[in-house]
Amino acid sequence: MKINENYSNLEQSYLFSTIAKKVKEFSENNPDKKIIRLGIGDVTLPLCKSVIDAMHKAVDEMGVQETFRGYGPEQGYKFVSSAVQGYYAKRGVSLELDEIFISDGAKSDLGNILDLFSKDNTVLVPDPVYPVYVDTNIMAGRKVVFADANGENEFLPMPDNNVKADLIYICSPNNPTGAVYNKEQLKKWVDYALSNNAVILFDAAYESFISDENLPRSIYEIEGAKNCAIEFCSLSKTAGFTGTRCGYTIVPAALGALNKYWLRRQTTKFNGVPYIIQRGAEAVFTEQGQKEIKENIAYYKENAKVISETLTRLGIWHVGGKHSPYIWLKCPNNMSSWDFFDYLLENAQVVGTPGAGFGKNGEGYFRLTSFGSKENTIEAMERFEKLFK
Ligand code: PLP
Repeated sequence: MKINENYSNLEQSYLFSTIAKKVKEFSENNPDKKIIRLGIGDVTLPLCKSVIDAMHKAVDEMGVQETFRGYGPEQGYKFVSSAVQGYYAKRGVSLELDEIFISDGAKSDLGNILDLFSKDNTVLVPDPVYPVYVDTNIMAGRKVVFADANGENEFLPMPDNNVKADLIYICSPNNPTGAVYNKEQLKKWVDYALSNNAVILFDAAYESFISDENLPRSIYEIEGAKNCAIEFCSLSKTAGFTGTRCGYTIVPAALGALNKYWLRRQTTKFNGVPYIIQRGAEAVFTEQGQKEIKENIAYYKENAKVISETLTRLGIWHVGGKHSPYIWLKCPNNMSSWDFFDYLLENAQVVGTPGAGFGKNGEGYFRLTSFGSKENTIEAMERFEKLFK
């Protein structure tokens, strides 16, 4: 046998293990000090009542002969895809049911979609970004080039006609920077993709954090996007499904073979999301479910506001927070990402995520998240005020 040597080209990911090690060491040496974690990328609020009620009901159905369900459709039950269809329709995007694929989350689909593309494609990935895009392509042996995001372009890189790419990743709102593209900017990416015969892989995992009605939450709000873009979304951050697992991917019929091949891929390698979870997902899209998840999102966004307002007062450059659970700041005094991590831990006992862990352009930057509790977020910002005044 021959092993897939591409795996040896992956960079070891020490980011979260190094953070955990440093925090553990610090707390062992300083047991009396309270550490506040604003580095987490996971939700903390529980699932909303509508979701729990729907899942309880589904559990009961599974215990009764007449309502028991075995294998479901690999691409998801119609009751969920119809709910997703209705959700998009509210933003003026019309989708056919067979363009919507229900899955166990965006991470799997982002990796699995690559089955559809030749190894010879060149991939364009923003830097910094969610590391999964790079790693899944390295595993397949594809060539990766980067679109530089930096302070000058407010972490929103635009297409460069000198760069030829076949697959283009866009994450908006972005993890880790929280930066969001507007419609004009996304239109430029769509035009670039169409003129290069490229496909955009649009990650909308954080769309529900966008509060400005004029900002696009789906790439299909942009004219021409159905001819060049696949969209990934998830209930993870929208509705606290990180541990429950449900997402959806849109592959427009206009992409021809890609829509058919994705169905073929899913029916061959995936056996669907559990019925109980899909009933929970359906409940997210009901009027009551939407009301409840918006309360949770508002809670996180209030935390983001507290963080952003504090940084503004202290004159610390940052983006994000407004339409995202992430705040991306420039480390004060030109500190490196890891120096700032150590400095914050030592002097304020606040833990964040060094930007350098998300790509070379993340060096000198730092990610804070709004997924902590309100009390802890306020306390962490009081410590910032004392430290940086
Ligand atoms: N896309 C981005 C940009 C993310 O940050 C994450 C998770 O943190 C995911 C996708 C994964 O989402 P899921 O939980 O649906 O797999």
